[in-house]
Amino acid sequence: MGTKTDDGLELFRLQRCTAGYVWRRADLRAADDLDLGTDRIESLTLIPLNDELESYLLPDDLFLRLTEVEPTPAGVLAFANAYGPLGAADSFDTWQFVIGQLRAAVSLYGALRGHAAGDSGGLQRLIRWDDAGVYFIEPGQIPLPIATTDINADRLSRFGRGDLAGPARYLLQESINHGLHAVSARLLWNTERTHLALRVVSTSLEGCVWLQLARLIDCARSYRQCRTCRKWMLIDRESAGNRPSRFTCSNACRMRLYLARIGQARRLHAQHVPLAEIARRVSAKDAKTVKGWLRGE
Ligand SMILES: [Zn+2]
Repeated sequence: MGTKTDDGLELFRLQRCTAGYVWRRADLRAADDLDLGTDRIESLTLIPLNDELESYLLPDDLFLRLTEVEPTPAGVLAFANAYGPLGAADSFDTWQFVIGQLRAAVSLYGALRGHAAGDSGGLQRLIRWDDAGVYFIEPGQIPLPIATTDINADRLSRFGRGDLAGPARYLLQESINHGLHAVSARLLWNTERTHLALRVVSTSLEGCVWLQLARLIDCARSYRQCRTCRKWMLIDRESAGNRPSRFTCSNACRMRLYLARIGQARRLHAQHVPLAEIARRVSAKDAKTVKGWLRGE
């Protein structure tokens, strides 16, 4: 039933309906027209089209794929057809909530990793202080109080004024622990059936995505945005060093980034920037490499 990952985490195979899903309104009519007014979207529930289920192996970046889902009925439906429902209660507003929470957690952890590596730009955009306390900022949203003199006042004393990482870590921990409510522990047989092992399990997609993110933080692994298409991607533990492939999500994006660097080198060369300086600016190995690019090699 379960699949043991390399870190001993037991993630169950998830299931999806072979025929796909459809949105139903509260009055049980099929919602064929997905272009609904926002007042009616909340009443939508995801329904399987038949009783036939198939199991599939969870991709280890499923949580990142969920953050990229457009939170619209059409966007969620496409994701559900590929990976199945979130869990038991599959209303549209639950999906919207989970996607929003997961996106916030992913940007918080990404910003915290950046901060640890000496770049606090991400945290400065997400965490803001005013006279009353500290808030989480998302574009287009009302600032979410993490701790103010009115809300969670007891927490305020734990953070130094102006501290960005402390409040970010607190909020990240809180939202992940909330997401992990659907996760539990089980004593399970190993594959050879020789001994029992304690495993963390989840049978719902919602539990699995939070478990993936929690596990990643536990192992201090990371992810970053592709430099070409800005898609989030996992960084492999084994691929150490600074190979350019680690900065792009695919061969196509790596090629586009490479061509963009050559284009930039040519523009700088036309502005009479010295070769060594061009190499530095476009992260080329040395002036000789840049020379090769300019000659069209
Ligand atoms: Zn890409």
